[in-house]
Amino acid sequence: MFRLWLICALLLCSFLSEAQNDFDKIVQSERKSFQHLCRDERAGAENNTNVIYQRLSLRANPWEDSISGSVTTYFIPAAGIPYIEFDLTDDLTVDSILYHGDTLSFSHQNEVIHIAFPTSLTPLQTDSIKVVYHGVPGNSGFGSFIQSMHDSVPVIWTLSEPYGAKDWWPCKQNLQDKIDSIDILVTTPDSFRVASNGLLVGEIHHGNEVTFHWKHRYPIATYLVCFAVTNYIAYYDYVPFNGDTLPVLNYVYPEHLAESQLNTAKIVPMIQLYDSLFGVYPFSKEKYGQAEFGWGGGMEHQTMTFITGFGFELMAHELGHHWFGDKVTCASWHDIWLNEGFATYLSGLCYEHLDPKWWESFKISRINSAVQEPHGSVWCDDTANVSRVFSSSLTYNKGAMVLHMLRFELGDSIFFVALRNYLQDENLAYSYATTNDLRQHLEAASGKDLQEFFNDWVYGKGFPSYQITWQQDFANQVQVSIEQTQSDPSVSYFEMPVPIRLKNAFRDTTIILNNSSSGQAYKIALPFIADSLLFDPEYWLISKENTVSRKSAYDFLFSIYPNPVGNSLQIEFQSQVDQNVEMEIYNDAGQLISKQTFAVTQGRNITQTETGGFSGGVYHLTVKAGGKRYHASFVKAKN
Ligand SMILES: [Zn+2]
Repeated sequence: MFRLWLICALLLCSFLSEAQNDFDKIVQSERKSFQHLCRDERAGAENNTNVIYQRLSLRANPWEDSISGSVTTYFIPAAGIPYIEFDLTDDLTVDSILYHGDTLSFSHQNEVIHIAFPTSLTPLQTDSIKVVYHGVPGNSGFGSFIQSMHDSVPVIWTLSEPYGAKDWWPCKQNLQDKIDSIDILVTTPDSFRVASNGLLVGEIHHGNEVTFHWKHRYPIATYLVCFAVTNYIAYYDYVPFNGDTLPVLNYVYPEHLAESQLNTAKIVPMIQLYDSLFGVYPFSKEKYGQAEFGWGGGMEHQTMTFITGFGFELMAHELGHHWFGDKVTCASWHDIWLNEGFATYLSGLCYEHLDPKWWESFKISRINSAVQEPHGSVWCDDTANVSRVFSSSLTYNKGAMVLHMLRFELGDSIFFVALRNYLQDENLAYSYATTNDLRQHLEAASGKDLQEFFNDWVYGKGFPSYQITWQQDFANQVQVSIEQTQSDPSVSYFEMPVPIRLKNAFRDTTIILNNSSSGQAYKIALPFIADSLLFDPEYWLISKENTVSRKSAYDFLFSIYPNPVGNSLQIEFQSQVDQNVEMEIYNDAGQLISKQTFAVTQGRNITQTETGGFSGGVYHLTVKAGGKRYHASFVKAKN
C-alpha cells in the first residue's frame, strides 16, 4: 500500500495550514483503523480451522451503497470443534447459515458470527458452510468499501488492509491462515465491469445484469481479497516471459484511457526486472492486473492492484508487493516493514536499473525521511499508535534503507541470493514471515552473524552521526579518524562499514573503512594529494549531521604523474604559504637536465614540464621550498 496524499501532506504540512488539517484527518482515520486492529488482535473470530477455499457470490450496484450475497467456506477443523466463527461487522445483517442443506442458528455480536454445529466436527475432515448476508458495509481504516463517483459515473471499490475485510464480507480476518483458493462472483448492472483477483473465467449476462466470475488458485491473505465495479475499459499489456507472455490486464476509467495507455506499459520492464532479481512473478499462471480507483495511492490486491494514476514509482511499489507482501506476507503488524520497506526499496531498484538519473535522489530522500525520527525503530514496537504502524519515515523509508545497508554489508550477489531463498522457502512462500525469518536467510547465505545489525538497525532506535577527521602527510599517507554519536540511547554503537572518497580535481578513490568504535583511526597510502574527503558519497548509510574536518599535517607537499612519463610531467604542489619553489631534474648519472622556478600560491597548484626530449631512463627530481628539499623519481620510457 502506498498513499500518495499522505506523503504530500507530510511534505506540505509545515507550510500550509490546510495541509495540516488534511494530515490531522489522515491521522484520525488511521487511528480509527487501528482501533479495529487492536480489537482484532485481542478478540475476533477464533482460528480453529484451516480455510482451504472460499466462494464469494455477491450483488453490488455502484449506484447503491449496499451489498448482498453469500460466502461459502470450505475448511478443515483442527480438532473436533463444536463451533466455527467468522468476522463480520455488526453493520451487516446475517440472513441465514446453511450447513449440509440445513439452516443453523447463530449469534452475531461484537463483529463475530458464532455458529454452533449440531455435533462436534470430525477432526481433519473437510467440511463447508455458507453465510448469507446483506446490508450497508462498514467503513474503517482506509475505507474498506467505498461508493464514489468519477466523471458522473458511480464506482465501488474495496480496500481491506489492515482490518477492513469484515466490513464487507464474512471472513477469517487473521494473518495466520491464507485462503488456499477463492472464487469471486459479482453481479452488477450490465453497463459496468467488475475487477477482482485471479482470472476472469465467466461474464454471464442475464436480463439487464451481468455476473463476473473471477477465479484465483493461489493462497491469499484475507486483506488482499478485493473487487471494484464501474464502467471500466479493459486492455492488456504483455510481458515477454519464458518464451511466452504474461498478460497485464488494465481496467481504467474511460476518461483516462489515452493517458493510461501511455503509462501502464511501463510495468513491463519492471516485471522483467523483478523476475530477474527475485524469481519469476509469483502468480504467473494467472495475470498481473491494475484497476483504477479513487483512493489516492495504490493497494497491492493480489494479481489486481488498485491504483490512482499510473505513476512510475507507485506502479513499481505495488508490483513489488507481489513478491514482498503478497507471496510472502508479514506475519504480524509488528513486521509490517517486511511488506512496506521492501516495496519501497523495490521502487528504488526500478530507478537504479530502469531510470538511473533518479536513483541518487531516491536514496537521499529516503535517508532524509528516515532521520526525521531520531527515536524510532523499523520494527513496529508500538502498535497502539497508528502513525507509528504506518510511519512513512520508519516502516517505509528507514525500512528500505536498512535493506540497502544490508546489501552494502553483504554485497550484491549474496544479498539477492538470500532474498530469493527467502521468497522460495517452502515455509514462507505463499504464507507468512517474521523479521527473524528474513534474518535467518541473510545469515545462511552470507555466513555472517547479523544479530548485532538487526539489534541496531531493525529493533534499535535512531541513527548515527559521524565526525570524520583527516590529514595527509609528507609521504601522501592519509590518516582518518571516525567518531560517532547516536540519536537514541537504545543503540550503543552502529557498527558499519563507512565509505569515504578522497579526491582532487583530477583523481579520486573510494575506500570502505570497517568501523566498530568511536575514535577508530585508519592509515591509507594514497598515490596523490587529496584536497577533500567525502563521507558516504553514494548514499549507503542512514546518518545525519555528519562533519568532515581536515587537520593540517604539512607545510608543503608535492607529487608527480604520470609515471612512467611521456612528453609532459605534471607536478602538483600543495603549499601553506605563497612562495617561490625551485625544481631541478637530474638523470641517473647525476647530470642536471633541467632547472625551473615556480611562483606557488597558498593551496593547490598544478604545473607541468616538458619531457619529450628526455631519453629513456630513470630521472630524479628535487624541489626546494621553505628551506627544505623534497625528492621524487620518475621513469621516461624509451622513445
Ligand atoms: Zn505498500
